[in-house]
Amino acid sequence: MKTFLAFILAALTAAAAETFDTVIANGRVMDPATELDAIRHIGISGGAIRSISKTPIKGKSVIDAKGLVVAPGFVDLHQHGQGPDDYPFKAMDGVTTALELEVGTADVDLWYKLRKGKTPINFGVSIGHIPVRISVMGDQPAFLPPADSRGAKQRATPEQLAAIKMKIDHGLSRGAVAVGFGLQYTPEATQWEALGVFRVAAKYNASCHVHMRSKGLATGLNIFTAVHEVVALSAISGAPGHIVHIQSTGNLTTPKLIEMIADAKKRGLDVSCEVYPYTAGMTDIKSAIFDPGWRDRTKISYNNLQWVATGERLTKATFEKFRKQGGKVIVHANPESLVRKVVSSPITMIASDGFMGHPRNAGCFSRILGKYVRENKDLSLMLALKKCSLWPAQRLEKCAPIFKKKGRVQVDADADLIIFDAAKIIDRATFTDAAKFSSGIEYTLIHGVAVVKNGKFQKNIFPGKAARGKIR
Ligand SMILES: [Zn+2]
Repeated sequence: MKTFLAFILAALTAAAAETFDTVIANGRVMDPATELDAIRHIGISGGAIRSISKTPIKGKSVIDAKGLVVAPGFVDLHQHGQGPDDYPFKAMDGVTTALELEVGTADVDLWYKLRKGKTPINFGVSIGHIPVRISVMGDQPAFLPPADSRGAKQRATPEQLAAIKMKIDHGLSRGAVAVGFGLQYTPEATQWEALGVFRVAAKYNASCHVHMRSKGLATGLNIFTAVHEVVALSAISGAPGHIVHIQSTGNLTTPKLIEMIADAKKRGLDVSCEVYPYTAGMTDIKSAIFDPGWRDRTKISYNNLQWVATGERLTKATFEKFRKQGGKVIVHANPESLVRKVVSSPITMIASDGFMGHPRNAGCFSRILGKYVRENKDLSLMLALKKCSLWPAQRLEKCAPIFKKKGRVQVDADADLIIFDAAKIIDRATFTDAAKFSSGIEYTLIHGVAVVKNGKFQKNIFPGKAARGKIR
């Protein structure tokens, strides 16, 4: 008995005496998985959370988080800009893992290789139906296929469809974390083609991130058939289906579309959707979205379009000029009342669709916490954290188990954490000045290493790691 007591005492003393690499002391710790919301001390060693303590603990370095919230860093399911100019904006906006899942890549190995050891935050990619189709059709590589290209407008032969499926399968076997689709950009990709690709995704439990095929309320192909397509593809194939930026395709109809997804989920289907908190979208003016008839389909006109390069609103004449030239255009299409409704829905995830030129690249997540949680009180802070971190991580963890350690503040989770002032956090990027850091995030830790410290981005530190699926 005496030795047993001595053993317990020794163990307790050892635990109390353990010195962690870093301690975050006195913070209001919020874990969206357990809904813990209390003052705790977090011990981090070797890049992971090792202790969450009610009493003070020792660290080689200590961050005093008194008065600040400590939460999991954001897992952005939809970040196109994946270069050295983008990552600082993401880190300052609380993003610890940035994922290009809508467009994705045709070459998973190369995509990861180009970023290895060179990024402040974690990065990941899908195998993309768009770039795979562009390559199988023999077009020049492009981010989105021009409206008149074969990638957009040519029906795949049985041999080409087989090649598309083979490349998707290869990408997943090389650790892509999902499969991306942009059916509106590839209108000649049939529903049979899409099903073939979903079936490949199902083999890997990979979620399919779909920019929907059509919008508007015309008879035939419209916004409702577009949602039906994703739900049906998921139901038939068994692959999880995820609709990207549902509000920028759905516009005023979006609340009905979210209701359809919620009902499908209630029936046991693995379907989900994401939104970003802005009244305008952005895309390429050369893409099939602006094919003849776009004003009827979308119920907007030239004046709703803003040319990114100059900030000017378009006319019929400038639209035609720029359509030939190509480039980014901001599409003002949604009222603020709609944005408030869709960001606070109990099922939507938040994802930025980040790309230079639109303020969502820099401000998406701080805008949720500052404008919609604090100022408007449209949703609780805990629900917002679920939408920005836990749910996106859960979306990918069946295919890429690495995500089981993200989106949570728990012992053994990755120390991908943010520390922010809930009373101050806000986005500062605007439609006329999109490259502005958000403010209020004091620390962003990537595997325990601070890339944002005292509210300042830290240059030349690259703790970001590949967020990648199993290689098989
Ligand atoms: Zn899109």
